[in-house]
Amino acid sequence: MKYYSLNNKQNTSNFEDAVVRGLAPDKGLYFPEHIVKLDSDFIKKLNNLEKEEIAYTVIKNYVGNEIPENDLKAIIRETLDFEFPVNPLEEGVDVLELFHGPTLAFKDVGARFMAGSLGYFSKKGNLGKITVLVATSGDTGGAVANGFLGVEGVDVVILYPKGKVSEIQEKQLTTLGANIQALEVNGSFDQCQAMVKKAFLDTEITENRQLTSANSINLARWLPQMFYYFLAFKQVSQIDKKLVFSVPSGNFGNICAGMMAREMGLPIDHFVAANNANDTITQFMESQQYEPKESVSTISNAMDVGDPSNFIRILEIFENEFKSLKQGFTAMSYSDTQTKKTMKEVYDKSKYTLDPHGAVGYLGLKEFLKINPEYHGVFLETAHPVKFLETVEEAIQAKIQIPSAIKEIMQKQKKSLQINNYEDLKGFLLC
Ligand SMILES: *Cc1c(COP(=O)(O)O)cnc(C)c1O
Repeated sequence: MKYYSLNNKQNTSNFEDAVVRGLAPDKGLYFPEHIVKLDSDFIKKLNNLEKEEIAYTVIKNYVGNEIPENDLKAIIRETLDFEFPVNPLEEGVDVLELFHGPTLAFKDVGARFMAGSLGYFSKKGNLGKITVLVATSGDTGGAVANGFLGVEGVDVVILYPKGKVSEIQEKQLTTLGANIQALEVNGSFDQCQAMVKKAFLDTEITENRQLTSANSINLARWLPQMFYYFLAFKQVSQIDKKLVFSVPSGNFGNICAGMMAREMGLPIDHFVAANNANDTITQFMESQQYEPKESVSTISNAMDVGDPSNFIRILEIFENEFKSLKQGFTAMSYSDTQTKKTMKEVYDKSKYTLDPHGAVGYLGLKEFLKINPEYHGVFLETAHPVKFLETVEEAIQAKIQIPSAIKEIMQKQKKSLQINNYEDLKGFLLC
């Protein structure tokens, strides 16, 4: 498979180069030259297939022969080494739980698949040492740290804002050691992000270290998210109604992967992008004007994005036709007050604990179903509520159980290096 840059379709790359680079040299996002259509028999049979088999069929054409079948299958086995249950919550409403991975958020799948792919390319020998440099506002750091731990030929450097990630999130990215280094930045997430961007453009650094990024613009993190939708459909395929999926969205990588799955032949009729107060896309769907904004802080902090990087891929899927986009896609935004109220209501009614991101997804789905009762809905629960312990316990007015893996990590010693500015980062990368 070839991938073209969304800045200029003439600039193409194979899978390996696209994964190693992250962004195309012209700074465009990579997009597959064609979207593979799957056999309708395969979709009909999903029910009888193992998750590894499904994932292999979905992704193999995007990787091509750049990773041999057996290695790709091994990567998939490790990536999907936990459950992806769809549970009924209310009449016509199911929840797809994506938080059963090692760091309790859906980003585990993309991070592990990317670690496996980069690890393979590195082992194959012609790359040299690679440094994954990434800024995190919370969930990315833990997932990337966990996914890349012990991967030979790859060092990981994670920048996070001091005092601005939850305690659990901090432990997840500072306690592993080995090839994972956490840098605790005296500043905001936006400053971490700016420092990372600057490093990628700093030739003094890039001549000495081969840098790559691990956020959702990277193909190897973005594409495997298609698996969720196939694995969910496998569990609801007997339902004889039109399907809508509601996806709590920040950078729009996850929902965009869902739309890819639909293009490949999965019968999903509609997507709802559920947003918090960061409503750039909700506004766009009203006005057709794309106006990026500064992000504002909310309780669903993994979605605090004012200029969602993957939205341009969604426009590409819909061939920049606003009319067809509107037919298949709705965007909605909710306040923190609405989110907390919903967490409490769902807990009281169904004894189900939503995390703030899942609660936004639920809100979006319910609003859509009110107008379109002929649909069956699935919303994505993207993180375990324990990751946002204080917010959740305060909202539902009850204590939640802490999984044993979390108790274990809370006992571990935090190891991080404090840095104050870009010169500190540069000094670290060049030593
Ligand atoms: C990253 C994240 C999101 C947003 O996903 P995108 O693919 O960026 O839209 C939603 N919920 C949680 C818990 C996350 O960690």
